[in-house]
Amino acid sequence: MTVANTFPRITHTGVPLAPMTSFGIGGIAKQFVQPRTVEELVDVLAHLTRTGTRYRVLGRGTNLLIKSREVSEPVLHLGKMHGIRFDGERVSAQAGMALERLVTQCGERGLAGLETLAGIPGSVGGAVMMNAGGRYGWIGEVVSEVTCVDSTGLKTLASDKICFTYRNSSLRGMVVAEVVLALKAGDSREIAARRRDTLAEKKRSQPLAAKSAGCVFRNPSGGYAGQLIEAAGLQGARAGGAMVSPLHANFIVNTGDASADDVLRLIERIRKKILENYKVILELELEIW
Ligand SMILES: Cc1cc2nc3c(=O)[nH]c(=O)nc-3n(C[C@H](O)[C@H](O)[C@H](O)COP(=O)(O)OP(=O)(O)OC[C@H]3O[C@@H](n4cnc5c(N)ncnc54)[C@H](O)[C@@H]3O)c2cc1C
Repeated sequence: MTVANTFPRITHTGVPLAPMTSFGIGGIAKQFVQPRTVEELVDVLAHLTRTGTRYRVLGRGTNLLIKSREVSEPVLHLGKMHGIRFDGERVSAQAGMALERLVTQCGERGLAGLETLAGIPGSVGGAVMMNAGGRYGWIGEVVSEVTCVDSTGLKTLASDKICFTYRNSSLRGMVVAEVVLALKAGDSREIAARRRDTLAEKKRSQPLAAKSAGCVFRNPSGGYAGQLIEAAGLQGARAGGAMVSPLHANFIVNTGDASADDVLRLIERIRKKILENYKVILELELEIW
């Protein structure tokens, strides 16, 4: 039995993925599953485990390049799970909520700790899985516990059982369903000011309005991928509709009609040049499906 047969009310077939990514590039999901509750997510995972079916999890598609014309594994999308609960300085957010909404709502309620993440697109689940953040802080620093689902079922992990590292976490292989954050009471006007400052700095240094998937490469130890790419003179370099951003060299932007192949060709060109010039192997931060 396929997921579509077993969960017909929450599964769509032949869903185009390009509009669900910030790059605007992607093929078709054969089966696109949208659980509405944690219980439904647990049931879907149990079915996938029982039938030995591999699957993919899609957040808001802001760190992805989808090169497949057809994604044959069922794609789990938690966009319908976007609830939030406030309990003093503790906030529970479901994985499908937009991170930016969470940041804004917490700030408006005078809860500090997330404003350094302003301007980072994506879902709460994707942010926790990837330990999203920047030079001012990471989400892992304020995570208190994470409820997730894997082949063994539902479990809640306290933060001391989770390892958050540079753009990664030990949650890989699980589906994040809900997150509890431990924030600090603060002055909402001061929090809003810090949020605006972070956002202004991000707007000044990153092409936020362009179609991209954020930083393409992980920073090599002791340096910045963007600085190497800039020093190699690659800003503005193009392959078809893909271009190295003139504003931030670690961003590749889709100037309109870029294909996944265009982006991949540009990635290879950058890697080759950085290896030749600086003997540094750039690793991808971007995920490719
Ligand atoms: C303009 C721009 C600026 C950006 N700036 C930053 C930045 O400053 N700092 C930063 O860290 N990132 C940044 N990013 C990258 C991206 O926003 C983050 O990595 C974000 O956390 C990805 O979340 P997502 O929901 O879009 O995940 P997706 O791109 O959908 O998925 C990314 C990975 O997370 C997994 N995943 C998603 N949801 C779940 C879930 N619920 N459970 C389990 N796995 C899941 C996916 O399977 C995939 O492996 C930027 C991106 C853009 C486009």
